[in-house]
Amino acid sequence: MSLTVTPAAAATPAEVLHRVFGYSEFRGNQADIIQHVVSGGDALVLMPTGGGKSLCYQIPALVRPGTGVVISPLIALMQDQVDALTAVGARAAFLNSTQSPTQRSAVEQAYVAGELDLLYLAPERLRIDSTAALLDRGTISLFAIDEAHCVSQWGHDFRPDYLQLSMLHERWPTVPRIALTATATEKTHGEIAHRLQLGDARHFVASFDRPNIQYRIAAKNQPQQQLLQLIRSEHSGDAGIVYCLSRASVEKTAEFLVQNGVAALPYHAGLPAEVRSTNQSRFLREDSIVMVATIAFGMGIDKPDVRFVAHLDLPKSVEGYYQETGRAGRDGQSSTAWLAYGLQDVMQQRRMINDSEGDDAHRRTLSAHLEAMLALCETVTCRRVQLLGYFGETATACGNCDTCLSPPASVDGTVSAQKLLSTVVRLARERNQKFGAGQLIDILLGRRTPRIDQLQHDTLSTFGIGTELSDQEWRGVVRQLLAQGLLAVNSDGFGTLVITPESAAVLSGTRSVMLRVEPARPTKRAARPPVKGANATLSTEAQSVFDTLRAWRAAEAKEQGVPAYVVFHDATLREIATLRPSTIGQLGTVTGVGESKLEKYGERVLAALAE
Ligand code: ADP
Ligand code: ZN
Repeated sequence: MSLTVTPAAAATPAEVLHRVFGYSEFRGNQADIIQHVVSGGDALVLMPTGGGKSLCYQIPALVRPGTGVVISPLIALMQDQVDALTAVGARAAFLNSTQSPTQRSAVEQAYVAGELDLLYLAPERLRIDSTAALLDRGTISLFAIDEAHCVSQWGHDFRPDYLQLSMLHERWPTVPRIALTATATEKTHGEIAHRLQLGDARHFVASFDRPNIQYRIAAKNQPQQQLLQLIRSEHSGDAGIVYCLSRASVEKTAEFLVQNGVAALPYHAGLPAEVRSTNQSRFLREDSIVMVATIAFGMGIDKPDVRFVAHLDLPKSVEGYYQETGRAGRDGQSSTAWLAYGLQDVMQQRRMINDSEGDDAHRRTLSAHLEAMLALCETVTCRRVQLLGYFGETATACGNCDTCLSPPASVDGTVSAQKLLSTVVRLARERNQKFGAGQLIDILLGRRTPRIDQLQHDTLSTFGIGTELSDQEWRGVVRQLLAQGLLAVNSDGFGTLVITPESAAVLSGTRSVMLRVEPARPTKRAARPPVKGANATLSTEAQSVFDTLRAWRAAEAKEQGVPAYVVFHDATLREIATLRPSTIGQLGTVTGVGESKLEKYGERVLAALAE
């Protein structure tokens, strides 16, 4: 490698940022974090996905003498991480169970000889005595503990092997440690500091805002059609992730998309390991794959150009939702987080909580998570303000979410609520019966169905008193009453609805109910400025240059067997397409073009441009 990263011990962090990574400035508090670690301090870094955590340990590892040891739970992604570093001229390798003994021993030798800037290890390797002994034979510049929230037993990504990472401090007390996570809650934060013995570490907490992501939550009608409409109108040809709750709906949705001409692939824990790994690898390597997945997919996926994340089912918590949507737009370019949400989601989740194993305290936690999620869905104010508020940040209306862009009306829905609740009460008192939303709505609308006739529900005094609303609108009312805790799903397992202690005040007229107005159509597209797709900012001419560069990149990536973004990010290609440099010097000024990539691809990019 002609680039001299090795004597970088003499280089400053800013020089490494510029020469190796091709970036002109540090982002957010990267500079402070890097300085702190370079001078030997411990750090705990909380930064959202896409915030730029990797540089916070990669640059110190390149600046400090020795090898930076990175602990990462994501064995399947280590190869890509190492490829990305190799592409910028850093000397990186990994040790994990997927390697042959020969490959492992080559890496071990390189480490001992001081020929590695970064070494990635799975946490379980540290349990093996020989690993610690090996580390002692080289020079460790720092320990980076990636995905540090895996140490939290209450989080959803708990990995028992993370618990013993406190040994790093005991065995190598003078080596600086930097723990990083994109999980933001106070509870996880405290737990990481405690369990990793980061008592003296400086805490760096970045804002969790992701301004380039547009948050939208739509009423669910025909979710697959709505999704297809989103992809066709705003994200055609873009990479995206679609989350579904069940394996069955993952498969059905992927099939539906494929039938409609979208390059979609399924991913869930029930698929054979080879299929999962092929699909993941295609998603990472190709440009426009839509991955339809359960939440088993995504942690550590650092594909920078995922342009949209769609949820077809309600996530179980705001924390999970934010992590998942955060996988969109790591490169800082405009992206969409879209969620379709409906009555069935609320019913289903309430039922799952009722049926869940565990004690009441556990059920209360699940309920609290669901309620926060419902509050986000039903809000009539800025989604981002709500989201950030959940993580303890205050913000002002963002102008880039659906409620900011087309503010929903909020109306006094007390009378509708009373009609619905009193139907529930009458059925219970007069007939000793409980029903789900469908029958309640049929009664309110005065429909003469066989079931109404058979049960003589037309003799109830609320029969036909709700014709001012449509079936769809009544579903909205039921959903919102459930979300507000004014109606509950009975624990009989049949999805019947019952009143709650709070309902009494509504029925007696001492409490009013505000409802978000359901738009007659799912989304009034014309009323909303089109989301800037990734390509929207390019002129027609630049767009065609960009397409040429993308084709060149795809061929290049394929030949090397690396993801396209390892060659260049979209943002870099876009900048090149706009600037159209004619010399190597000009090309070198583009963000993301460091010395190594300039040397490797410079001439070829100029040749592609000259065509
Ligand atoms: P995280 O690990 O926090 O999710 P990454 O480290 O993957 O985020 O960084 C997200 C994206 O931002 C990457 O594509 C990275 O190359 C880019 N990036 C990070 N720091 C900078 C910077 N200072 N200037 C420009 N781009 C940056
Ligand atoms: Zn907003």
